[in-house]
Amino acid sequence: MKFFKTTDRKLRSLKQDRPVRRSRPARGIHKRLERKGKRPKVAYFCMEYGLDNSLPIYAGGLGILAGDVLKAARDENMPLVGIGLLWRQGYTSQRLEEGRPVDCYPRHDHVYDLVDDTGVRVSVDIRGREVICAVYRASGFGNADLYLLDANHPANEAGDAWLTGQLYGWFSEERIAQEMILGIGGVRALRALNIDVDVYHFNEGHAALAGTELIEEKRAGGAGFEKALKNTREEVVFTTHTPVEQGNEEHSLRTLSYMGAFNGLSLDEMVQIGGAPFNMTVAGLRLSSLANGVSQLHGRTACRMWEDVDDRAPIEAITNGVHRGSWVDEEVVSAWREDGGPSVAAEHAKNKAELLDFITERTGQKLAEDRLLLGFARRAVPYKRATLLFSDEERIGPYLEEGKIQIVYAGKAHPLDDNGKDIVAELVRMSRKYPEAVVFLPDYDMEIGRLLTRGVDVWLNNPRRPLEASGTSGMKAAMNGIPNLSILDGWWPEACQHGVNGWKIGDGFEADTAQKQDEHDRKKLYRVLLKEVVPLYYEKPEEFARIRENSIASTIDEFTAAEMMKNYYDRLYSQNRRRSAERMG
Ligand SMILES: *Cc1c(COP(=O)(O)O)cnc(C)c1O
Repeated sequence: MKFFKTTDRKLRSLKQDRPVRRSRPARGIHKRLERKGKRPKVAYFCMEYGLDNSLPIYAGGLGILAGDVLKAARDENMPLVGIGLLWRQGYTSQRLEEGRPVDCYPRHDHVYDLVDDTGVRVSVDIRGREVICAVYRASGFGNADLYLLDANHPANEAGDAWLTGQLYGWFSEERIAQEMILGIGGVRALRALNIDVDVYHFNEGHAALAGTELIEEKRAGGAGFEKALKNTREEVVFTTHTPVEQGNEEHSLRTLSYMGAFNGLSLDEMVQIGGAPFNMTVAGLRLSSLANGVSQLHGRTACRMWEDVDDRAPIEAITNGVHRGSWVDEEVVSAWREDGGPSVAAEHAKNKAELLDFITERTGQKLAEDRLLLGFARRAVPYKRATLLFSDEERIGPYLEEGKIQIVYAGKAHPLDDNGKDIVAELVRMSRKYPEAVVFLPDYDMEIGRLLTRGVDVWLNNPRRPLEASGTSGMKAAMNGIPNLSILDGWWPEACQHGVNGWKIGDGFEADTAQKQDEHDRKKLYRVLLKEVVPLYYEKPEEFARIRENSIASTIDEFTAAEMMKNYYDRLYSQNRRRSAERMG
């Protein structure tokens, strides 16, 4: 199995400790498709989109990825449109009060200034009521057209008008209603807008109810259920994102039926698609001809995770990428291309200074420019282990007291997740104990993400393997000349050359209990951080600068959203019909 994507040439070059200059990869299939004058037209469905900080309709990695997909599709002239919801309150705005996160949901009515009303209205029957949705278009962020459905329409009952209020704000009935609007309403919007579609891409399980509409359309044309399902599969592909069991949503069939989510299908037909209870990921896998995980490792993890599901699509691996225009400081990249090491370090120092100013402005804390600064930005969930660094305070404390290690954290907890809030509270407690070394930046958003992945010195990532599916923030950092110090999880096994372009923590160890794994990984983290990274930073700055260069060299072409989109076109969108007969399980 081809696991490490690193090519021989690149490996040789990295081993010789020279930056790699890679040529652009071949585009064989695209050439062929282009000759035929045809690329499949894709409708990409996602619950959230991170296009710009001013349009707060995203929560985290899933949305950032979707935003980058639309931008890369636009850059590369690919025929793709996005379908999503116009969240009027977005995800939570999270502030700190007495050291704990509190949520608020301001109304972002300014979002209406950023989108165009298409004049199109579609309706979805939810709980026996017709819910009217306006369809807006967002196109001003360098993105392929994104159509956003909004239930905030004067004809709707007040409760229904808020269905597109809070992103991930509710569970059960409201979540199902939101997924009905995205899936069923999304397909209806495409029809009303007269957009021809060859491939429907469900990005994560939230969109799976679109399948009911695609099946019903075919039944209305006279097909039986089996035929309608088969033909629907031929035009659907699916991306799964989470190896965490609870992250894969399930709904009770009774509630789905009450909500109207069967959309004309029978109970047996719904069970055939999503099981009982109805699992949105299982539905995605059974409604599609081809599916993918979001890194090479996650592809394998997902195959294992869903191997007991019968009659499902095969799961491939397509590694995520990030949109260079949005995340990469091109000054750093040109410094690397033109002069190498010292200029890269100088460009990076500007970004670090900018970040430190921002930190002072937000928190009043002053960090030192000439001291090692680690960065860590993640959703506050246990498997990401934000507090692993502090788990042996006797060991790490002196480094923090001396300011030899500084670290800046960012991350939100889900509003209903008290464990996540405990994690944030612990980080805040540490920032108060070591105010000159530890910072917590509340309300993580695209602006903070951008500053952190440009301005820190080392990007720290220590999830409990294999639970991190991809981890695109590490790619942003790497391209900006910030080496990763990471567990071999998500995308990192594909890029990591230990001591050359960054560092691995441990060797991909997985234990049968979380406690054993944490114990093991903590030791490995301390060893590589304290024995390799810290001495190198302070004692061998030229070597550290070389690692910065290699970090850029080994990621700048390979882990871009443009590259990811080429893979989507070559391996999912153009292959799904041919492969639709290959069912698994
Ligand atoms: C890049 C980014 C993410 C995704 O990063 P992960 O490494 O997947 O956690 C999430 N949120 C913001 C604001 C980002 O910029």
